[in-house]
Amino acid sequence: MTDRHLVTCEHGGNRIPPACRALFAGHEALLASHRGHDPGALGLARQLAAALDAPLFLSVTSRLLIDLNRSLRHPRLYSEITRPAPAALRRALRDHYYLPYRRRVEEWIARATADGARVVHLSAHSFTPVLAGETRNADVGLLYDPGRPGERELCRRWQAALAVTAPELRVRRNYPYTGKSDGFTAWLRRRFPAEVYVGIELEVNQAWVFRGGEPWRQLRGLVIGALLTALE
Ligand SMILES: [Zn+2]
Repeated sequence: MTDRHLVTCEHGGNRIPPACRALFAGHEALLASHRGHDPGALGLARQLAAALDAPLFLSVTSRLLIDLNRSLRHPRLYSEITRPAPAALRRALRDHYYLPYRRRVEEWIARATADGARVVHLSAHSFTPVLAGETRNADVGLLYDPGRPGERELCRRWQAALAVTAPELRVRRNYPYTGKSDGFTAWLRRRFPAEVYVGIELEVNQAWVFRGGEPWRQLRGLVIGALLTALE
């Protein structure tokens, strides 16, 4: 079975469409924060897609409108700003942003697996260095379902490859979140069996993004280089 690679970026930007700008007036600081988007994730996703020669599906609208990485029934699908908004607006957000994005990715995977391929999906994210007063002690997180052997094995190899090329990096599996918690990959696992779908969320500490320049460029190179080794 051949592997086909796919890269997605659910939290790539903090854009607010004109129809919703009034709703977000006064919330500029929140939009600019990690709550509004994943700083650095889009650049990481683009570089991943280029390295893997893979298609990239991305969103640059803010997760504070509707969170593409949560299931429709999740209580925080909408943010504290859009949850109290009229139902018609919430439906419009779902119909214009959420469903088309999720469907496009799902259809791509369905086509690739129908062609006999196994899909390896990398969903690129970044996490805030400190959440609710707690310092996250990792540079890179690899999120997967431990019950899916293909995901477990790829993450183990990825972590091992990084331990060789970047032993100083703190690379943790299923941290700062568990791969099984509500998210797009968790949804796709229910749709596609483990034999044909491998879904991994790559989480990078935003401290590297804010450091910027050469350190951030090097981190991206190391993480992607190690993934290529792990996929060999
Ligand atoms: Zn994210």
